Amino acid sequence: MQILVVEDEKRLAEGLAHILKEQKYMVDIAYDGRDGLDLAISGIYDIIILDIMLPKMNGYEVAAFLRKEKVATPILMLTAKDQISDKVKGLDAGADDYMTKPFSPEELLARVRALTRRQGEVVIDEVEFHDIKLNLSTCDLSCNGKSVHLNFKEFEIMKILMQNPLIVTTKEELIVKVWGYDSNAVDNNVEVYISFLRKKLDFISSKIEIASLRKIGYRLEVKTNA
Ligand code: CA
Repeated sequence: MQILVVEDEKRLAEGLAHILKEQKYMVDIAYDGRDGLDLAISGIYDIIILDIMLPKMNGYEVAAFLRKEKVATPILMLTAKDQISDKVKGLDAGADDYMTKPFSPEELLARVRALTRRQGEVVIDEVEFHDIKLNLSTCDLSCNGKSVHLNFKEFEIMKILMQNPLIVTTKEELIVKVWGYDSNAVDNNVEVYISFLRKKLDFISSKIEIASLRKIGYRLEVKTNA
């Protein structure tokens, strides 16, 4: 789960990042509206926490631009203002929820959880592809009653491959989505985790394999000799 925090008050931005990282969210920070927009437009974030009063571009403008560009990432607006007209303006610009400063960490986390739930409309706790099932709460991968636990990175990679079964997922996409933008992860890291996942697929006797395609990426396929 990746969250973008756009907030120019450095201490608040870092405080938010700290609270979120403790809950295992991956966090990027932008300190002005334009940098925030540049990152948000990628569409890789699950939630954007967006301040209103920002240098270069304000939160309303950032939200409106993202919605115009069809980026549907849920936006939680953050502001010191608490007047009704500001809330309406934020929601009109495309924000999904609104939180007034100061707020407690509990309130922040509750709103973040609510927004991630809302995104998919129904809560899906399992992804399925041919004979394999991935449990999104326990991180267990199973096939016909045999199951194996995936560690965090293996789980994130497998989830992406299972949710995009017909297309090739590139190594770069996996690095950005699993390790984050500013990580030092390289192709080699991805290859190591793919090899772990292949061993685990063998262990649960699945007919699914992770095919490497022309060195650009990976796709789940049904083994032809199975
Ligand atoms: Ca501000």
